[in-house]
Amino acid sequence: MLACLAVLGNGSLAQAARPKADLHGQVIVVDAGHGGRDNGASAAGLDEKDLVLDISRETAAALRKAGANVLESRQADHNLVPRGQKPDNLQRQNLAARVELATRHDAGIFLSIHANKYSDASVHGAQVFIGENPDAERQLLGSCLHAEMTALSGSRRQLDMTRDLYLMRHLKIPAALIEVGFISNPAERSRLLQPDYQRQIAQAITRGVTCFVRGSSALKLPPHAAQPNVVPSVPAS
Ligand SMILES: [Zn+2]
Repeated sequence: MLACLAVLGNGSLAQAARPKADLHGQVIVVDAGHGGRDNGASAAGLDEKDLVLDISRETAAALRKAGANVLESRQADHNLVPRGQKPDNLQRQNLAARVELATRHDAGIFLSIHANKYSDASVHGAQVFIGENPDAERQLLGSCLHAEMTALSGSRRQLDMTRDLYLMRHLKIPAALIEVGFISNPAERSRLLQPDYQRQIAQAITRGVTCFVRGSSALKLPPHAAQPNVVPSVPAS
């Protein structure tokens, strides 16, 4: 028993001392949600697809600066369906193309960036979705991103592990869908449009990914930890 504990202890120490301070060697897809004919959510003349493109580009730049090899699902306003393909069920085809992108490049992490909308304009704050029945790795990625995004946005929602989302179901790698905030909330909408806040989001996501890669948050941030004053999650847009 003592020998067993000693081995565990040494393993933990070795892991804690591992000098992996950046994201070198990580292949990460940064997916700006929607695009082209798919506007996503819209509020006060702002389309989700345009806002999340700006935030995704900031995020890609921040992750590259940390050493990651980043693939962007799109760098302009367009859909991902190949030319000549019958454009029925465009939304589904666009999601399938995103999964295919990650598979083709053997990506290790997938981040889908979205912004939300709700009928109650007072609802605000970021949410992170990792799909139904996530494995331990995905829970760790989700927990790391959730901690950063809730701290930044003042959200009181829990990491969502209950909703069946196409991307989360079809991707077989650590993946998360990040709703950066609500464009239906006037104060949050104006904040989301500020370049400085967009950079803060990019940095928060990069810290979250770094936390996941280091694997150091498992002890201090159990995914099922009770959180005070949580409010129910709102479906993703
Ligand atoms: Zn969306």
